[in-house]
Amino acid sequence: MNVENTGGRLFGSRRCLSLSGPPGAAPVVHRMVEAMSQLQEEKAQLQEELVVLRERLVLRDSDQQVTSTQLQNQVEHLKEKLISQAQEVSRLRSELGGTDLEKHRDLLMVENERLRQEMRRCEAELQELRAKPAGPCLGCEHSQESAQLRDKLSQLQLEMAESKGMLSELNLEVQQKTDRLAEVELRLKDCLAEKAQEEERLSRRLRDSHETIASLRAQSPPVKYVIKTVEVESSKTKQALSESQARNQHLQEQVAMQRQVLKEMEQQLQSSHQLTARLRAQIAMYESELERAHGQMLEEMQSLEEDKNRAIEEAFARAQVEMKAVHENLAGVRTNLLTLQPALRTLTNDYNGLKRQVRGFPLLLQEALRSVKAEIGQAIEEVNSNNQELLRKYRRELQLRKKCHNELVRLKGNIRVIARVRPVTKEDGEGPEATNAVTFDADDDSIIHLLHKGKPVSFELDKVFSPQASQQDVFQEVQALITSCIDGFNVCIFAYGQTGAGKTYTMEGTPENPGINQRALQLLFSEVQEKASDWEYTITVSAAEIYNEVLRDLLGKEPQEKLEIRLCPDGSGQLYVPGLTEFQVQSVDDINKVFEFGHTNRTTEFTNLNEHSSRSHALLIVTVRGMDCSTGLRTTGKLNLVDLAGSERVGKSGAEGSRLREAQHINKSLSALGDVIAALRSRQGHVPFRNSKLTYLLQDSLSGDSKTLMVVQVSPVEKNTSETLYSLKFAERVRSVELGPGLRRAELGSWSSQEHLEWEPACQTPQPSARAHSAPSSGTSSRPGSIRRKLQPSA
Ligand code: ADP
Ligand code: MG
Repeated sequence: MNVENTGGRLFGSRRCLSLSGPPGAAPVVHRMVEAMSQLQEEKAQLQEELVVLRERLVLRDSDQQVTSTQLQNQVEHLKEKLISQAQEVSRLRSELGGTDLEKHRDLLMVENERLRQEMRRCEAELQELRAKPAGPCLGCEHSQESAQLRDKLSQLQLEMAESKGMLSELNLEVQQKTDRLAEVELRLKDCLAEKAQEEERLSRRLRDSHETIASLRAQSPPVKYVIKTVEVESSKTKQALSESQARNQHLQEQVAMQRQVLKEMEQQLQSSHQLTARLRAQIAMYESELERAHGQMLEEMQSLEEDKNRAIEEAFARAQVEMKAVHENLAGVRTNLLTLQPALRTLTNDYNGLKRQVRGFPLLLQEALRSVKAEIGQAIEEVNSNNQELLRKYRRELQLRKKCHNELVRLKGNIRVIARVRPVTKEDGEGPEATNAVTFDADDDSIIHLLHKGKPVSFELDKVFSPQASQQDVFQEVQALITSCIDGFNVCIFAYGQTGAGKTYTMEGTPENPGINQRALQLLFSEVQEKASDWEYTITVSAAEIYNEVLRDLLGKEPQEKLEIRLCPDGSGQLYVPGLTEFQVQSVDDINKVFEFGHTNRTTEFTNLNEHSSRSHALLIVTVRGMDCSTGLRTTGKLNLVDLAGSERVGKSGAEGSRLREAQHINKSLSALGDVIAALRSRQGHVPFRNSKLTYLLQDSLSGDSKTLMVVQVSPVEKNTSETLYSLKFAERVRSVELGPGLRRAELGSWSSQEHLEWEPACQTPQPSARAHSAPSSGTSSRPGSIRRKLQPSA
């Protein structure tokens, strides 16, 4: 648009110049204008070329777009083919279902996966290629160059626009100057014409004047006058002439001036010509640069095109190769399929054969089942009879076992005596009185040594526990006795000793470290549970106290009530205590509740429980009743756990009133216990059970197959040595009471009140050889007058 406008104006000015330009300046201006218009034309041409190039670029872009879409289509097509092949493979697989084919299928699947990845890669490459023409590859040197060229081009275009502006300005100026020149030329022409007219007029007058003068000279005097007039008139003419000459001079000056102006204008035109030439050169230069840039761009595009084609070809070749591989795989699968078909046929045949066989199978099975059933029935009968036999044998064995056990216990001694020495405690105080007076034998755990009044005395019992022995150690020793209770044996465990020697600790213990009572019940529970598949057991518990020969129920509602011991009315000779509470217990929790209840009864009853408990015997009676589920055999075992009253002797002078009565009762019952045990061990016909409430109550648990354990509690400190000596003597005597038949009658007697124990045994001599246990028969025979009362003939 711009170009055309300028062109139009230029043509306009040219027309004007050609019509009215002066003969000297017009060609120059004309030439200049022509050159400029030529330049403009060239520029327009260049711009047209640029437009064409741009169009070609756009065309190429669209071409590339088309190619890429074609490629995309190809890829899509390949994908579809792949999918169809995968489907084909899966179809074949489903048709065959064989293991070989499955392997093949797996292989194909792997291959497929690989191909898919390849395809994805191709697609990515394609994407890249597509991205290239759209936005010139970043960082590529060609693209940079091309950008530079583009910049240059736009710069050149800018400069060209500027030059155009300048050119149009110059054109305007030239136009103006040409107009002025034309004006000046016109004026000059007018002046020249005027001058010519004036000259002509003047010369005509001069000619007229000359003619007049000549005519006047031809006439005489008047002529003189005329001459004179002419002369006068001639001067006037001369003045006019000089004036016109001056004017002529002035006009010539003006022409010269105009010429000068024209010259200047020509010079200006010259310089504008030069400028135009310079501008032209510049335009040429820009054009060449533009050409070069264009060439570079073309080259670049060419190389890009080549790259793209190469990549496409490669991708296509790869896809073809992969397709080929897939085809080959497919062919392999097909051949496999062909080979598998016969196998399938034979399998089908086999299957049909088997099917026919299976049809006949149920009949066969029924027959086999019938025969097997008969065999099993026979076998069951045999097993049944065998079982009966075994049961018979088992019962016989059970009886035998009980007999053996009895025999063993009898051999071991139905009455066993052990000692437990408690540790020295804070209550023992300090000083020489609290020093330890008890030592043990490192090699023999049935020996205990006591230093009494500077003299060493030794005793042998069934077992001696040092202060280090734990509750569990002691319990271990009595465990067998307790379990025999389940087998229907009666058991008595006594804790004997002076007050403070540890009887209650051994029997009851502390909540954190319970004694025999709780451990025994726990053991019974677990044993009963173990036998639960064959036996049904019930365990009941009673608690009683004997104080001043009065029996009280510790679990009853009326603890003050005196209880009596009576013979069973069924004539079995068994004893029973009417009104004695019996609690059935099933768990340790139950036992704890029972104990607590007993304790509360005792606590509310007596203000000084400790004092009271040391003056009374506390009994825990556990009855275990069992029934053999298979035989219906019933057993009853009784476990009597007795915390005896303190065995210390009360001085004759110090005791009065109730204190004396208590002491007498305690001594009487303890003596009676000694008597009974002695009578039992010596297997006398008469055992004086009725001499005390304690022995009478425990009669059926002390006689017969019953087992008795006496735990003699010992205080280790110096100040208690005489009581310790007394206890140990009692223990040893109980233990060694069993005598030969010839000696029995002569030696044994019952022990009455406290004096009866004040004999001095032969073992009091310091020689170790003279220990009481070393010669039981001679030891007991050498007790001079110690046994006050002789054995009573059996009632
Ligand atoms: P007893 O019932 O013979 O009068 P205790 O059982 O009450 O004697 O014991 C007296 C003290 O000695 C209690 O404080 C008891 O805890 C403690 N005692 C007894 N024997 C032991 C022992 N083997 N280990 C630790 N302390 C004991
Ligand atoms: Mg006690």
